[in-house]
Amino acid sequence: MEANPSVLATVGVGDLVLLDPLSEESLLSNLRERFLHKEIYTYIGNVVISVNPYRQLPIYSAEMVEQYCNGNFYAMKPHIYAIAEDAYSSLRDRNRDQCILITGESGAGKTEASKLVMSYVAAVCSKGADVTKVKEQLLQSNPVLEAFGNAKTIRNNNSSRFGKYMDVEFDFKGEPLGGLISNCECNSLPSLHVLHAQGTYAAHGFAALQPVMCRRLPRRLKLQRDCRHHGYLGDENPRLPGMDDATNFQAVQDAMRIIGFSEAEVMQLLEVTAVVLKLGDLQLSGQFQASGMDACGIQNIQVLRDICELIGLQESILEQALCSRTVEAKQEKVVTALSVAQGYFGRDALAKNIYSRLFDWLVTRINESIQVTAGERRKVMGVLDIYGFEIFQDNSFEQFIINYCNEKLQQIFILMTLKEEQEEYFREGIKWTPVTFFDNSIICDLIESGKGGILVLLDEECLRPGTVSAATFLAKLDQAFGSHEHYESRKSQSDRHITDTSLPSTCFRVHHYAGKVTYNATGFIEKNTDRLYRGLAQAMWQAKHTLLRSLFPDGDPKKASLKMPPTAGFQFKASINTLMKNLYSKNPNYIRCIKPNENQAPGQFTDELVRSQVRYLGLLENVRVRRAGYAYRQPYQPCLERYRLLSTHTWPRWTGTARYGAWGARGPGTWSSQGELAYGHTKVFIRTPQTLFNLEERRR
Ligand code: ADP
Ligand code: MG
Repeated sequence: MEANPSVLATVGVGDLVLLDPLSEESLLSNLRERFLHKEIYTYIGNVVISVNPYRQLPIYSAEMVEQYCNGNFYAMKPHIYAIAEDAYSSLRDRNRDQCILITGESGAGKTEASKLVMSYVAAVCSKGADVTKVKEQLLQSNPVLEAFGNAKTIRNNNSSRFGKYMDVEFDFKGEPLGGLISNCECNSLPSLHVLHAQGTYAAHGFAALQPVMCRRLPRRLKLQRDCRHHGYLGDENPRLPGMDDATNFQAVQDAMRIIGFSEAEVMQLLEVTAVVLKLGDLQLSGQFQASGMDACGIQNIQVLRDICELIGLQESILEQALCSRTVEAKQEKVVTALSVAQGYFGRDALAKNIYSRLFDWLVTRINESIQVTAGERRKVMGVLDIYGFEIFQDNSFEQFIINYCNEKLQQIFILMTLKEEQEEYFREGIKWTPVTFFDNSIICDLIESGKGGILVLLDEECLRPGTVSAATFLAKLDQAFGSHEHYESRKSQSDRHITDTSLPSTCFRVHHYAGKVTYNATGFIEKNTDRLYRGLAQAMWQAKHTLLRSLFPDGDPKKASLKMPPTAGFQFKASINTLMKNLYSKNPNYIRCIKPNENQAPGQFTDELVRSQVRYLGLLENVRVRRAGYAYRQPYQPCLERYRLLSTHTWPRWTGTARYGAWGARGPGTWSSQGELAYGHTKVFIRTPQTLFNLEERRR
């Protein structure tokens, strides 16, 4: 194979660091041109940008794997396999732990990308029998988690509503030993989405399971045959067009068996899922009481009966837990009736709690099967598949958390890219000149600072006695951040004499690195303290259903503590920071996914849509950071091969070292300015793209 800088011999430039001139416009049109020629991958240095083709391309065959496995990164077209190969081979040969960070908005192709990486690694490592079993289990964890973690949204038929981080562990030869899926708190996002995001999410979760559960096991699970008749599912059909539910259901069941779930476990899992659905069917109504107050009562006793039969619980216990609250004061129990609204609140909180705890259990259970127990020093490849920046019409706590996470990922991205550049220059013996870049830690601090960031203020407001509301929370933010350059609200605007009617009075705006996002403060307090009435946890703990019962250890009255459970925001912050620490200890590899159109259609490239993602992903900044020192670098050997014909020094014959030859091949008079080139120990570095173009020009 001819060793050529493939980044040039293709449509547009294959590496955006070579864009000249560099602007949002040129970046966009380069991506467009490539996409329309079915070139969906483009680099920024060693970052891969992937534009979702929404069609099967013939680029993932075994031959392709073979080519990238043996090929040289510099000689092949941009491909996700190249980054997978690069990560895997430096893990195996250079003993460096790797992480692969995959970001992009919903439907951009993140989950597909993570599967491609995993299947590439699975294909190139050895084929021994025990390895095969490990590989199977690792690959099969995906459909299982997807079945429970995904939702059909208006943007993506199969949107992961959770961020997934998985460490794959290898032995010293590079053979996979097992893995560990991080049970990061991002996992409780699907539960938030069950009920909070009406309208945005057509139907939540278990997309692959419900229709079949309803049709195949209606009696056993006490479900309606048509799942649309269940309360939480609304009128929307959660079925996916073009997807066969029955096959899908079978695939999930098969996957669970491969991972090692017993028949009984699968059944229990389905039963608990059915309980969540049935809770949505429970109707509450006000019942007249002697005190004159409307107290909450259950209207459709049959549903209550079904639920209790499914989980082995006395009806009266669940009924009481749903309709009243017991407060213990000085050895005395006081039972108060709940209002209907409180009853519904409790019911929904219970459904969400069961669902998110079930999801956590699922992750723990999968880990039990795939986790490595032997104690040898292992190498690790982490794969993070996480939603990118989200900006909707109406943004709430969920978007705030997701965007906070992305703010942190951006921070770590810049730090690590710069760090890596510095390290490479050091390794190659090249002088490093510091570069300036936009440091987003000011925004991270605004959100997460322990000394009064937005999350801390939110927690304070949630715990404060007295009446708290979105308005009091907003007032608190105004007081603290009224003059912060990345914060805006009606109040701060009027202080600055700005009139802007686009910002509603219930909202605040954060200027993220990727753009301004307006968050509706309404609901922050409720979502942050998404608590379950203790009585409900205690009721669940009394159920005979072993799985369900095990989800509610806090329902054990002996273990009941008076301490407030941590808030959602607090938990997110902790898990995001654990994740960041983990990522920071590894060598990063980035895959940035882009969705080209809103119609899930092949061959369509909507400029405005892509432009906004280019911004959210910070691609321009990415190129700038990457170009801060030298735009382009290449090992000596391919460089010599390509350019030796330019100089009589190296053409037609050259017998010296590649390094010296590459130096000679540049030919006289090529470099107008000093410092255009630097010669490292193994690579030649080129400062500006123009220089590379000149060389190419002369080769013609
Ligand atoms: P995300 O995880 O970012 O929300 P997905 O990975 O689920 O998005 O991708 C959404 C859909 O787009 C997939 O179901 C698939 O149909 C299509 N898709 C994504 N990546 C590719 C690809 N590389 N080749 C073909 N189709 C793809
Ligand atoms: Mg996904």
